[in-house]
Amino acid sequence: MKSKTIIFYITNNGLNIANKLKTPYPDAQVLKFGQKAIPGLWKKSASLIFIMATGIVVRTIAPLIKNKKTDPAVVVLDEKGRFAVSLLSGHIGGANNIAKQIADFLGGEAVITTASDVNNMPSIDLWAMENNLVIENWEAVPEISARFLNKGELKVYSEVEVKMPEGFLREDKLNSVDVLITNKQFQISNLPPRAGRRGDKSQIFLRPQNLMVGIGCNSGTAADEIEDAVKGALSKNRLSFLSVQSVATIDKKGAEPGLLSFAGKYNLKINTFTPDELNSVSDVEKSEAAFKATGANAVAEPAAMLASGAGKLLVRKQKIGNVTVSVAEQRAKSKEQRQGKLYIVGTGPGTIKHITPYAQNVIKESDIIVGYGTYLDLIKELTRGKEVISTGMTKEIDRCQKAVGLAMSGRTVSVISGGDPGIYAMAGLVFEILRAAEQQLHGESVNRLIGKSQKQSSCSPIHPFTHSPIHVEVIPGISALNACAARLGAPLMHDFAAISLSDRLTPWKLIEERLESAAKTDFVIVLYNPKSMGRPEHINKAREIILKHRAPETPVGIVRAAMRENESIVVTNLRDMLNYDIDMQTTVIIGNSRTFVWDNRMITPRGYEKKFKI
Ligand code: SAH
Repeated sequence: MKSKTIIFYITNNGLNIANKLKTPYPDAQVLKFGQKAIPGLWKKSASLIFIMATGIVVRTIAPLIKNKKTDPAVVVLDEKGRFAVSLLSGHIGGANNIAKQIADFLGGEAVITTASDVNNMPSIDLWAMENNLVIENWEAVPEISARFLNKGELKVYSEVEVKMPEGFLREDKLNSVDVLITNKQFQISNLPPRAGRRGDKSQIFLRPQNLMVGIGCNSGTAADEIEDAVKGALSKNRLSFLSVQSVATIDKKGAEPGLLSFAGKYNLKINTFTPDELNSVSDVEKSEAAFKATGANAVAEPAAMLASGAGKLLVRKQKIGNVTVSVAEQRAKSKEQRQGKLYIVGTGPGTIKHITPYAQNVIKESDIIVGYGTYLDLIKELTRGKEVISTGMTKEIDRCQKAVGLAMSGRTVSVISGGDPGIYAMAGLVFEILRAAEQQLHGESVNRLIGKSQKQSSCSPIHPFTHSPIHVEVIPGISALNACAARLGAPLMHDFAAISLSDRLTPWKLIEERLESAAKTDFVIVLYNPKSMGRPEHINKAREIILKHRAPETPVGIVRAAMRENESIVVTNLRDMLNYDIDMQTTVIIGNSRTFVWDNRMITPRGYEKKFKI
């Protein structure tokens, strides 16, 4: 593995900068530039940083450049440190990151020209590398990358669970995909015309590292013979050699020179197992000869199986000359083994414009989006290609239970809530469900420990539980009160109370008491859920209660569908407010005794007028 960073300078200014860069790169070597030294260092170094004119660097490295898999990262800095140019191996080599780090550190600017970065899109080669996928046909990378940049999406066929960036759409039909993630060599005749041909640039093949090759061999077998046997067995079974992650054998063969040299050549780890371990695997083809020689009933098959973590045996033992080969596919991590994540995301009052960038990223990162139809419609652009579970408005318990269940099974789930998720919305409910789930889990495990049956365990808490069984995060959004207040002017500049007029979960009597108290103590009052078909009278009653304590001229703002296409804004007063349409998409804001109307806006003074003069 190359890891060395070398910083070259020419002038004293350059040397100063080079010395400064020892802070972010303490292991870097600082050298005075000399053309002759570069070829020798080219192959050994992971990154070369040149503090000098780009021209000098380009002329020097031109004859050394080979390809983006092996060339080091090359970054060029001017001697004032104003620009850090990522010149070569921007992605895989890491030059883009180095240029950004240096620019951050020196307060300069990184010069990045790779199209995916300029367009803020993931680069395929980098994404493949991060996910341990080996690119088989590098020649396809430019064309597929350009297609991604132009169309904004790629269709991906994948046989393994892999986290897809935005715009990568899963597809099961091989003929229409741009990217294939598989350990199989598809037979050309099985594939539609454009796919699968070597040198074909229209599809890119990415190889997951999920094959374990079990090997048995006679002592003294040459590395070449082992390599031919392994490659032969794989190709006969249409499996890609690039998907081989490691080899496995019996402990006695762990130091077999031919095997070591073959594994070393391809950087493959060797797993070894004792005869007892190998004999613990059932359903393998046994061999008398192997047993006599080693004490194991078989080597290649059980070794492959053990290395794969009880995966799938894809190739039964093949005997090729002095070598036996078997191949198993690594068992994918089950969803239960992965840490689930649950985000409760506030999507604000209307369209995407008013959702925070953080919330947008979380939605994009999620596997599954759970929400209520209308809110999901408003954010359609963000959920393309994702599994979306939509339920009716009053089905919120259903929705949250589904979301919690999915997250507990290892998925990344976003529960979408209009406005802010913690205001008359889903966050509290999710936590209640999580708490119940944890109590149940805990109760069961404690009862298992003390030998009770699960039936007896019920849900009763044994002591207070404080930990969520999954990662859970609430992502705030702009609530209706923020959006409506902004549309009206500044009605919430002083103390205010938010009261929901829905008695679905709160007794109406309590709502009346709260209205009374808030009105009496001169709070500005924000009325959520002011009216629905089932209870058209609530807003009238609320108005009557407030009128007992406030003048009929008290300003009232009525905002419907704030920040959506059909938005309407009315500034009126307590006397006339019922002349306007009020429904479940409306929020009503009742001013306090000092709220005034100016420029058809509603303003609650906070007392600044005493502090300033014009
Ligand atoms: N979590 C949401 C509130 C859900 S309760 C939030 O923080 O905004 C639903 C009520 O919110 C509606 O009946 C209405 O009173 C109000 N509301 C939600 N979106 C609104 C919008 N765009 N314009 C006006 N009121 C809205």
